[in-house]
Amino acid sequence: MRVSTGKATQSDGRMFTVVVEGFGVGLQRRAERRITVPFPQLQRLMQTIAQQGGRIKAVTAEEVPAGSATPAPSDAAVSDAPAATPTPAKKAPVSHADVPVNLYKPKDPFIGTVLDNYSLLAEGAIGRVNHITFDLSEGNLHYIEGQSIGIIPDGEDANGKPHKLRLYSIASTRHGDNCEGGTVSLCVRQLQYEKDGSTINGVCSTFLCDIEPGAKVKITGPVGKEMLLPPDEDANVIMLATGTGIAPMRAYLRRMFEPSERARNPEYQFRGKAWLIMGVPKTPNLLYEDDFQRYLAEYPENFRYTKAISREQQNPSGGRMYIQDRVTEHADEIFSLIEDPKTHVYMCGLRGMEPGIDEAMTAAAAAKNLNWSELRPQLKKADRWHVETY
Ligand SMILES: Cc1cc2nc3c(=O)[nH]c(=O)nc-3n(C[C@H](O)[C@H](O)[C@H](O)COP(=O)(O)OP(=O)(O)OC[C@H]3O[C@@H](n4cnc5c(N)ncnc54)[C@H](O)[C@@H]3O)c2cc1C
Repeated sequence: MRVSTGKATQSDGRMFTVVVEGFGVGLQRRAERRITVPFPQLQRLMQTIAQQGGRIKAVTAEEVPAGSATPAPSDAAVSDAPAATPTPAKKAPVSHADVPVNLYKPKDPFIGTVLDNYSLLAEGAIGRVNHITFDLSEGNLHYIEGQSIGIIPDGEDANGKPHKLRLYSIASTRHGDNCEGGTVSLCVRQLQYEKDGSTINGVCSTFLCDIEPGAKVKITGPVGKEMLLPPDEDANVIMLATGTGIAPMRAYLRRMFEPSERARNPEYQFRGKAWLIMGVPKTPNLLYEDDFQRYLAEYPENFRYTKAISREQQNPSGGRMYIQDRVTEHADEIFSLIEDPKTHVYMCGLRGMEPGIDEAMTAAAAAKNLNWSELRPQLKKADRWHVETY
């Protein structure tokens, strides 16, 4: 072990970086980690590492420039205080002021042309989910990963008024699916439900699923700053998605792992851990599966993919396997990751998924002597808990 700290006192203003192996849970345990803490936390960190069987490889000290605030510890996995306040993410996710919003408003929408519209589902799937791409090259509509756009469907509502816009999460990266810019893609499920013996089709989702290439569509936005991806290439990103909630996650994963995207983004060469936990009813309903399998093959150290296929898999009580059952199953690893300030959690999909996830997180937190109803708002405040459900 290499230790270079010089003489330290309780009033020591330096930051100490501990390089440790075999410390943490699951994925963390396999990696060498660098944990930076101020001196008052150093001793406790060393004790925690020793208790958990970690091997310290080096300790180094760094001067904090006079007048600067003491930096936050860079890895909260060392905290053994159950009610510890989550440390804010190391870098602000994205300067929110730089994020494009409302470039096109409903009164004067952008008119996009449909380039492509195809089914994402395999034979035997339930329902209808399409991937739809629009040409944006004529205007100034641009966006970043995690935002949404509004679509104003053609036609009028029951009162003879133009339809109101519906929001859709963007499924492409800022460079679009062709990586050349000037397009946006959506992942749209047709809403269908039964009422008084007849099948009702959702207005906008049906309009989009039926639309032909070449058609013109009114588009507004972009909107949304809730689901932005942190710029930190070493961040850990846990993604909880059901159905079309995969849309923003697909954009993140393309940005992280798609070769053409990596070539476009020399400033973002993702090196962290991305863990997608995806819920669908049946295997043929899995979305973008081929891409995700390719990322798994190419980046096994960085990408993890867990599926909850409710009508085919069973949870430990013999019931249907939902996404919350997977959260319960992997609670220990999820919480160990959450203790790391570099970890962000994203949840997207139908609103109905929220109570189940909340319940699973409450139980998982309790097993670690943590109180989820206190921890969740703290994570939210630290900009590390991101939810978009509809
Ligand atoms: C931020 C955000 C992101 C979104 N992203 C996506 C996305 O990526 N993909 C996607 O497909 N959708 C997404 N949505 C949902 C989308 O905006 C629309 O709400 C959805 O497509 C339905 O719109 P529609 O016009 O087809 O349905 P509408 O014609 O507007 O019908 C919806 C209405 O039907 C009624 N209804 C619905 N279900 C039932 C039922 N079972 N029984 C009785 N009445 C019912 C309700 O009154 C409901 O308000 C997102 C929503 C938000 C807010």
